[in-house]
Parts: sequence; structure tokens; C-alpha cells
Amino acid sequence: MVRIIRLLIFRLSKKFEKSPSMTPNEKILVIGALGQIGQALTTALRTRYGTMQVIASDIRMPDTPAEGPFEVLNVLDREALKRIIVDNEVSIVYNLAAILSARGEQDPIGSWQINMDGLLNTLEVGRELKLKRIFWPSSIAVFGPNTPRTLTPQHTVTDPGTIYGISKLAGERWCAYYHEKYGLDVRSLRYPGLISYESLPGGGTTDYAVAIFHEALKTGSYTCYLKEDTPLPMMYMPDAIRATLALMEAPATAVRQRDSYNLQGMTFTPAALTAAIRAHIPELEVSYAPDFRQAIADSWPASMDDRAAREDWGWMPGYDLEGMAADMIVRLRERAMSASFKA
Ligand code: NAD
Repeated sequence: MVRIIRLLIFRLSKKFEKSPSMTPNEKILVIGALGQIGQALTTALRTRYGTMQVIASDIRMPDTPAEGPFEVLNVLDREALKRIIVDNEVSIVYNLAAILSARGEQDPIGSWQINMDGLLNTLEVGRELKLKRIFWPSSIAVFGPNTPRTLTPQHTVTDPGTIYGISKLAGERWCAYYHEKYGLDVRSLRYPGLISYESLPGGGTTDYAVAIFHEALKTGSYTCYLKEDTPLPMMYMPDAIRATLALMEAPATAVRQRDSYNLQGMTFTPAALTAAIRAHIPELEVSYAPDFRQAIADSWPASMDDRAAREDWGWMPGYDLEGMAADMIVRLRERAMSASFKA
């Protein structure tokens, strides 16, 4: 009851608060815009603020012609980053460039450089050029085997065992440091595993939850690299984008966690996801062949306590497992249909 009243007061107070949303002509730069989140986020930002206001960038060129401003940028090249920001009068940066958990284990030093130096370049340029706001995502990978697994608290044991998790944990502290020492308005979310229909994931431990949909529709069978009873926190991409925009549009005074916010969407196991997909594709067959990613998954939380996000800036997830699975299948079928029309 107390929480409901607090939420109502929060929502009401938001109506009268001066929104820090964009002023006309303000420009946004998205770094790592061709990735799983970058594609969805760039589209959402362009819908909200205008195509020409959002400059997408990545270390490579897009496969199809870009639908708005695009720059090739290696986030490790600080001078190039600075030049793009100055030339385009950018005031808000989303840095999504990273090497994810499973891929990171193949090249720990290279991953550390991209994840860490890429963030430090963004923070330093942000400080020098007095950027208005920066977004940098963290992950549930900051937690480790000694962290409480159920309803993992906002502040608790963080002993990550992957180089990805180590870089995210250090990154969180750097974000808090730049906010504390230099007043830089940097904001962050600990995304759970993200599920999307627009693009394939880029080498994380939760990738199975996207791959299984594609294989269910293409071949009717899937071999999962995690055990069937492995629970992990997950989120449908529309919810992740909504959370990102809500955090970035919140007044600075409302953003009280300056390392990164826990975020909960849904929790499921591979077996539960299989059952949710079978409600639409009954013939789906799933077998299990756990590999090195099982140990990573076993060290991560099963669910997150995200009360801080709910209380500070009104976070509320919209999708559960069944709703997400139904929408994924409809969207992937639509995409397959439109691809076959084009072919
Ligand atoms: P992704 O691998 O799909 O995309 C990353 C993008 O960064 C790619 O397009 C890649 O080309 C680009 N990139 C790599 N190195 C670069 C460099 N040196 N300079 C510029 N661009 C470079 O990853 P994603 O899933 O979109 O994740 C984006 C962010 O969100 C990352 O920080 C990741 O750690 C975080 N995150 C993702 C998930 C998830 O489930 N997808 C979960 C938690 C956190």
C-alpha cells in the first residue's frame, strides 16, 4: 500500500517537474549503433527526436544503406570521437560499444580494452566538452557466485568471474566517479539478457533466448547450450528501450544511483521458454548440450530487486514470458514474409 501511494505521488510529481528532455536542435550520438540494442535504440530515438537529430555510429559500415546520419567510429579513437561530437554539436551520447560475456572470454585483454578504454574515452570527452548527458549500459554480469541469486539487491556482493563482468563493474565505478568528481551526468542500467526480433545478439550468455525463436521457425529444433533448469533474468527489447528512454529523460535529481540501476523484466529457464514457444509452435524439439556458458550463467542472478529504478524514475516492466513469446513469433513471421516478398 505504501509503495502504491509512493508510486502515485512520484507519477503526479513528474507532471509538474521541469522535464530535462531535449531542446530543439540538440544532437544525440549512438556509439555501437549496429548492435542488438543499438539498432532498436537508434530507431526509437529517431522516432522520438527526429531522424536528423540522431547520429548513428559503429566501427563498421551498415549492411544496408543507413536511414539517417551515420559515421564510422572506433570508440578507442578518442580524437575521432571528439571530432564527431564537435562537428555535429552533439550534447548527448549513448555508448553501446562492447564485447559481450561469452565472446569476451575468447579474448580477455582485447575485450577489456574495448569495454574499458571505450568508456573512459566517452567519459573524458564528456568532461572536456561538457556534454549534457551520457548513457552507458552495465549488466547483470557485475554479480558473481557469492551474490544472492534471488531478488539480487541493488547493493550487494559483486564478484564477477568473467572479464566482461569485471569491466562492467569497473565501468560502473568510473561512471559514479565522473559524476561525483566532475558533475558529469552519466546514467546506467544493469540490463538483463535482452530478447529482440530486429537483430541477432552479439555473443552473450543469454543469446539462446533469441536463437531458439529463429530455429523454432526455421528448422523446428534447437540445441541449447544451457541446462533446461537454468533461471536467468531476461527482458524484451521494447521494455529495455522504454527503460533507457525513461532513465535518460528523468530529472537529474531523480537519478540517485550513479553507478547503475538493477532492472527486472521476467525470469525464465530454457524449459519454461520452450513451453511458451510450444504454445505457438507445438512441434518444436529442444535438446540440451551445456558448454562453457553454463558456468557463467550459474554465477549470475536469477532475478533482480529493481525497487530503486521503480521508485526513482517510475520503472515498470510491460512484458511477461507469454506476452514476449507471442509477440516475438508474430514479428519474426512478419519479417520472414516481407523478406520472401522482397526476394
Ligand atoms: P552487440 O555486440 O550486439 O553490439 C555492439 C556493437 O558495438 C556492435 O555493432 C559492434 O560492431 C560495435 N563495436 C564493437 N567494437 C567497437 C568499437 N571499438 N568502436 C565502435 N563500435 C564498436 O551488443 P549489444 O547487445 O547491442 O549490447 C550493447 C551494450 O549493452 C553493451 O555495452 C553490452 O554490454 C550491454 N548489454 C547488453 C545485453 C544484451 O543482452 N544484449 C545485456 C546486458 C548489457
